[in-house]
Amino acid sequence: MTTQAPLYITMHEADNVAIVANDGGLPAGTVFPCGLTLVDKVPQAHKVALVDISEGAPVRRYNVTIGYAAQPLARGSWVHERLLKMPAARELEGLPIATVKPPPQEPLEGYTFEGYRNLDGSVGTRNILAITQTVQCVAGVTDFAVQRIKAELLPKYPHVDDVVALEHTYGCGVAIDAPGAEIPIRTLRNISLNPNFGGEVMVVSLGCEKLQPERLLPPGSIPIVDERNVADVGDSAEAKLDVVCLQDDAHVGFMSMIESVMRQAEEHLERLNTRRRVTVPASELVVGVQCGGSDAFSGVTANPAVGYCTDLLVRAGASVMFSEVTEVRDGIDQLTSRASTPEVAEAMIREMAWYDAYLDKGRVDRSANTTPGNKKGGLSNIVEKAMGSIVKSGSAPISGVISPGEKLKQKGLIYAATPASDFICGTLQLAAGMNLHVFTTGRGTPYGLAEVPVIKVATRADLARRWHDLMDINAGTIATGEKTIADVGWEMFQLMLDVASGRKKTWAEHWKLHNALVLFNPAPVT
Ligand code: CA
Repeated sequence: MTTQAPLYITMHEADNVAIVANDGGLPAGTVFPCGLTLVDKVPQAHKVALVDISEGAPVRRYNVTIGYAAQPLARGSWVHERLLKMPAARELEGLPIATVKPPPQEPLEGYTFEGYRNLDGSVGTRNILAITQTVQCVAGVTDFAVQRIKAELLPKYPHVDDVVALEHTYGCGVAIDAPGAEIPIRTLRNISLNPNFGGEVMVVSLGCEKLQPERLLPPGSIPIVDERNVADVGDSAEAKLDVVCLQDDAHVGFMSMIESVMRQAEEHLERLNTRRRVTVPASELVVGVQCGGSDAFSGVTANPAVGYCTDLLVRAGASVMFSEVTEVRDGIDQLTSRASTPEVAEAMIREMAWYDAYLDKGRVDRSANTTPGNKKGGLSNIVEKAMGSIVKSGSAPISGVISPGEKLKQKGLIYAATPASDFICGTLQLAAGMNLHVFTTGRGTPYGLAEVPVIKVATRADLARRWHDLMDINAGTIATGEKTIADVGWEMFQLMLDVASGRKKTWAEHWKLHNALVLFNPAPVT
């Protein structure tokens, strides 16, 4: 698109910087239609000063001070991270609490998808046998068994999409009673109960590990699926936990362990294979949104389109989670003011305070978030990154907050507190009960999860062109003016219904690109 006319994008009329939209950036001497002339060469997605900015004066983007000029910045010059001094994070006292009451949005009715209805009322978008592990020690054996299950058993059960080992590094060598240890434990418990696994829970345990199967999945935590998994406990029927314990005396030799896993897996496969998709309302979607490998276009194209789609989902009665604490910390006042009740705002402040203290223990703050790629992509600091990240949440009132690893139990727009780390955020959103994931990227990442479909959105046309068989949606068309934010938001909404129904596969599913589950463990290891 080198022939494209010089173009910059401003986010708010009060901003004194804008970003260069053209592929490849623009050379010094470029004259924009408004008369602005570039003093420096400015790379694509990087900022240009729209007026002379004196030393120490605020630099504004998204109508927010993203930094203070470290030296005088001439109109038309390149404004990059070394020329900005970052503002301090907003204090958590005196925040506006539930002050903004967005006008009620018209309900969006009549949209449906084809999903797997579970006994607890939740809906899966895929039909997967998940094998839970109590400890990393069993990962090799479980993986060996899963390969054989896929080759020898899965072809007999054509209505089951996949078999997935829930591998992780937790379970032993950890301070399991330390404050914070409940986070990885409940995360793993709740992932085992993700709607895409149909209530079928199967555990592989070593035997001597700290995280014993009964601690991971205590009585009453798993559903009764039929008479075969009912434990004999007198009057109150309870589901029997299906555990294959490798140290069990009955296991003589490696192959007897593999046979145990395969025999138990087949019982679950038989039941999963009887499930069929049924038409369900779009309100059964539980969507987790996040971004990774962000650039300055993330907050201009892909994230606003996600925000538009978030509003559509909330209007349709669905659940949408946004997350990534360090990427909302600098916009906390925007979020507490949008909380539907004071209790929701207080819960959000509690999560921010917990995370501030967590980072403080490691002698860093939220600014440790940004990466070399973010900066190369034009994002000068965490304040600028956060303003672009928050727009994924759209404009609906925030109706709930959950802590890391907790299960989501309500509809609407939810703040699910998680680290911004792509793998940890995805893992925690899975635990919350996510059945569809939306992921935006500007630098490009091939991210995927084995447990739920991941729809990936490119922020720039150039990335969408080069990664044409990895990116599901090109939001770069917003920067070039070919499409509006609303056009791409609706495109995303329709694609979600198609992917949720199994009518379409995402590129990550097509290529089977799966990242590891990464548990968030703020507690010590031993
Ligand atoms: Ca992320």
